[in-house]
Amino acid sequence: MIVRVRGRALPDGEYVDLYADGDRWTTDPVPGAELVAEGWLLPGLVDSHTHPGAEAPGDPMDEEILRADLHRHVDAGVTMIRSPGLPGEPPEWFGADPELPRAVHAGPWIAQHGQFFDGWGRRATHAELPVLAAAQALRTGWAKIIADWSVGDEAVPPDVMTAVVEAVHAVGGRVAVHSQHAAGGDAAVAAGVDSVEHGMWLDAGHLPDMAARGTALTPTLSVFQSSLAAARERENSPRKRWFVGGAEAHPALVVAAAEAGVTILAGTDSRPHGGISAEIRALAGTGLRPHDALAAGSWAAREYLGLPGLVPGAPADAVVYAEDPRTDLTQLEHPVAVILRGARVR
Ligand SMILES: [Zn+2]
Repeated sequence: MIVRVRGRALPDGEYVDLYADGDRWTTDPVPGAELVAEGWLLPGLVDSHTHPGAEAPGDPMDEEILRADLHRHVDAGVTMIRSPGLPGEPPEWFGADPELPRAVHAGPWIAQHGQFFDGWGRRATHAELPVLAAAQALRTGWAKIIADWSVGDEAVPPDVMTAVVEAVHAVGGRVAVHSQHAAGGDAAVAAGVDSVEHGMWLDAGHLPDMAARGTALTPTLSVFQSSLAAARERENSPRKRWFVGGAEAHPALVVAAAEAGVTILAGTDSRPHGGISAEIRALAGTGLRPHDALAAGSWAAREYLGLPGLVPGAPADAVVYAEDPRTDLTQLEHPVAVILRGARVR
């Protein structure tokens, strides 16, 4: 079946009438095409921070869990994911299965010795970090570095982070950095990484620099906000002060980042998979315009990852909604149709 969709395409809201010529959109009518849906069109949702394939931190990659997780993403309207860290090397079909989202990934996380979840990721000395990161980026285009971990841990020093970024960029790759403490954020921004993941305790003074250098921020807001109430009930400790303080400051940081012109990416981080609409609503809940919150989980994220929107010649992905999702973001829970690689998958 040849898929045809029409309606108002975001971000502009212009009327389009698109035909899937294989995995490319075209405006040239294709004989025999079937109009599968009409309404408000997005070029698919994007989850830019998700780790499918394992039930619990430390568990090895499980292909059946991976497949089930990715189906949940598609059911939520996600046509593209970025996995900044995976529980293991993914199978060959990852990102290529016709019914599952496009995917870019950084392979297993790369962390300093003594940090990050036991059983997950690779550990490296400061001297080894740039080489390991560049080798990973050469394989998949991305490397993911854990810049900091628990309260009191040493963050990756700025000179080491700079060497990592230079090595990865030299092979044409990009660097995503996990940071939840000020020192890790300082090092990541000074080094010119491609994205700061989480960004708790990130010094807002860095935001203009991030905007100027194209460093994106993936706040994974909903995962922190959902555990904030429980965290407030805990006994006082450095860890509690770190988490509660960071999570309470996070929404304002997101707003300041958007105002500074930093690219914001929607990412869910946690299980169950397919929660992208909750993250988009959490972004809007900070005070971001619904248009901008949606951009973070759709067209702006696709652009950041190198894919165009709903234009002729673009990869044939789309999600169709009955109404303008910006007027009611709960619309995101009810896609009329999901088109992936030119075929209807939902
Ligand atoms: Zn993560």
